[in-house]
Amino acid sequence: MASAIKLGNITIHRVVEQQAPIFDALEFFPSLSKELLEENRSWLEPTFIDPATGKLVLCIQSYIVQTPQHTIMIDTCVGNHKPRPQRPMWNMLNSDRYEKGLAATGLTLNDIDYVMCTHLHVDHVGWNTRLENGRWVPTFPKAKYVFAERELAHWTKKQQEDPANHPWITDSVLPIVEARRTEIVKSNHTLNDLVQLIPTPGHTIDHFSVQVGKSGQDAVITGDMIHSPIQARYPELGMRVDYDSKQAGVSRRELFGRFCDTPTLFCMAHFPSPSTGRMTRWDNGFKFISS
Ligand SMILES: [Zn+2]
Repeated sequence: MASAIKLGNITIHRVVEQQAPIFDALEFFPSLSKELLEENRSWLEPTFIDPATGKLVLCIQSYIVQTPQHTIMIDTCVGNHKPRPQRPMWNMLNSDRYEKGLAATGLTLNDIDYVMCTHLHVDHVGWNTRLENGRWVPTFPKAKYVFAERELAHWTKKQQEDPANHPWITDSVLPIVEARRTEIVKSNHTLNDLVQLIPTPGHTIDHFSVQVGKSGQDAVITGDMIHSPIQARYPELGMRVDYDSKQAGVSRRELFGRFCDTPTLFCMAHFPSPSTGRMTRWDNGFKFISS
C-alpha cells in the first residue's frame, strides 16, 4: 500500500481491491484503431497495457479523503459476497484485501462520515453494503451516502424495469435508500470550502468528480470520467459502456483543460498504481504525468 498523500491540510489514502490486466484495449475503446494503438503502445506498456496479454491494466480502488472536518470515502469498489453472474471476475468475491487495505490506513468503518459514489456502476458501489444475518446493511455505520439525483433516478428505474440485470443496484444502492442514509444532491454540490463536486457527465448520465483541498494544494478524484491515459491524449476516445461518449469527451476536455499545467493532483479510479498524477498538454490533447 502506497503511503498517504498529503496536500496542505488534507490527506488522501488509496484502498485497493484489485489490480490486474482486465480488458482488451480494442474492445474496451470501440473507436480505437489498431494503428493508433500501435502508435501509442511504447508509452502505454508496461504500466497501462500488460505486454504479456495486451490487456489494459486496471485498478479497482477507493480513495479516502481526510479533511479537518470530515473523512470521506469516494467510490466503494465491487464488494464481497455479491452475485455478479455476468462478470465472473467480480462474482461472489470473497477477499480480505480491501478490508486489510482499509485497516492499513489507520481508519475504521466508523470513521467514515461520507461515502460519495461518483456514479452507480457495479465497481463503484459494492462496499456500500455488507452482508449481516442474510441482509444487506450499510457498511459504514455513521456515513451519509452522497448520490447524484439524476444518477440515482436513472439506475432506480433501470432496476425496476430489469432487476435481473442490475443486481448491484438491488444489493448495494437500494438498501442505502431504504435505510434513509442517502444525501441526494446535484452533481455540482458543494459540501464546504474544501470539498466540491464537479459534474463530469458522459460515462454515466450524472457522473461527478470530486475536488478537494485549497487552491494550489488540491486534488480531483475523477471516478470514471477517464479509464486510461490514452483518453487524455485523445479526449474524444469513448469506452464501451459510456452512456454518452460524446458528452464524456466534452467532460474530459473541460476538466483537463481547466486543471492542466497546475499543481492540481488527479486521482484516477482505474489507472494502475500509483494512479495519481498531473496533467499537461500533448498536441491537441493531454499528457498524464504520474506523481
Ligand atoms: Zn469503474
